[in-house]
Amino acid sequence: TVVTRFAPSPTGFLHIGGGRTALFNWLYAKRHGGKMLLRIEDTDRERSTDAAIAAILDGIKWLGLDWDRDVVYQFSRAARHREVAESLLAKGRAYYCYASQQELEEMRETARKEGRPLRYDGRWRDRDPSEAPEGVKPVIRLKAPTEGETVVEDEVQGRVVWQNKDLDDLVLLRSDGTPTYMLAVVVDDHDMDVTHVIRGDDHLTNAARQTQIYQALGWGVPKMAHIPLIHGPDGAKLSKRHGALGVEAYRSMGYLPEALRNYLVRLGWSHGDQEIFSTQEMIDAFDLGSIGRSPARFDFAKLENLNGHYMRQADDEQLVQALEDLLPELDKDEHHLGRTLKPALRQKLIAAMPGLKERAKTLVELLDSAYYLYAQRPLHLDEKAASLLADGRSRLVGVAEKLEALSDWSAQSVEAVVREHAEAIGAKLGQVAQPLRAALTGRATSPGLFDVMAVLGKDETLLRLRDQTK
Ligand code: GLU
Repeated sequence: TVVTRFAPSPTGFLHIGGGRTALFNWLYAKRHGGKMLLRIEDTDRERSTDAAIAAILDGIKWLGLDWDRDVVYQFSRAARHREVAESLLAKGRAYYCYASQQELEEMRETARKEGRPLRYDGRWRDRDPSEAPEGVKPVIRLKAPTEGETVVEDEVQGRVVWQNKDLDDLVLLRSDGTPTYMLAVVVDDHDMDVTHVIRGDDHLTNAARQTQIYQALGWGVPKMAHIPLIHGPDGAKLSKRHGALGVEAYRSMGYLPEALRNYLVRLGWSHGDQEIFSTQEMIDAFDLGSIGRSPARFDFAKLENLNGHYMRQADDEQLVQALEDLLPELDKDEHHLGRTLKPALRQKLIAAMPGLKERAKTLVELLDSAYYLYAQRPLHLDEKAASLLADGRSRLVGVAEKLEALSDWSAQSVEAVVREHAEAIGAKLGQVAQPLRAALTGRATSPGLFDVMAVLGKDETLLRLRDQTK
């Protein structure tokens, strides 16, 4: 059965590229009725933090993904890694290397002069450990093949070949007894029965080195799929200057997890020209063969459009819940809403949602467009609203009295009153509706004016209107 894994290093938030890697692993496992495991690669003790672990787990869950079995913490497996390194030593497939820092520095210097990457020259490969200098703690290096080639049959990149003479004897165990990343990944993937390694193509060269370790151990090599990295709209590797990098930042910008997930699945993978996928459709269609070989470009406009789609499609109550969940994440409480919604406001938001969600691209925009529902009197008018009202205030004289006389307050009945008023003063409907909207919402655009008035209710409508016309 298929076993995939997501293996992040907990040194920061869940990167958007990491989110995509997790998604691809999850989809592949689901597609084949397999499992996705989660391994936290926390061997870098200086840079790994509990906060980063929490952020990564949160990010995965927020995207609607999950993992099978318990989380594996790589650091806790250090004794096992050491044992495997020593077994290679015993088999003669690895050796103690006593080269000093200075010797390594000299090798690096020579390499630099010759314009090639550092290659350890194998000087302890065949030396007798009895020649070991006093008091130096050795590292353990892999006795890598010096001739022939190492081949990775990658599910995305195709057949990739390295000349063994270009790959040096890598360190498996450091002199303090801690495993290197290269060793730990191989041992863990093997012990976790991983069948498919799906990760970013920045790990492609590691795949060659890891293959050599598998071969020395006599273990089967899992299938590999190295996905091209995500680039910014300008074609350069995605970085901070392109905007947010962490999945949690997209949450606080007001994207729905369904939208981000749908966006991520299409970053580098395609299925004909289908853009919108339900979870089940993604699972049914996902395959490694349709992952492209060139980097995918991040396209904010596309993400916004998808988010708009998922918001319009969302259930109104759930959407209001999503707005409420977002409140604590907003930087400043410029809406004066606090961290939870009052029941009355929640009801108004739900009632107004069909009109509101037609326009907004993000939850933040949605909340902003609902300003009229939670605004405190007297309303703050934005610039456009202020000028509409300055221009049309005189056309509103008398409307309040006519509305006041209404006994039944509904979108239809207020519409009839406003239309009658416009006719009576010889104005077009818009000439009355625009300043009226400005007075009631503080904005120049809003959902349908009569729906707005119906949701606000008679008292609040009249109070706001009188605030602006007295
Ligand atoms: N921990 C590595 C990283 O975060 C991934 C290792 C792997 O997938 O093999 O880049």
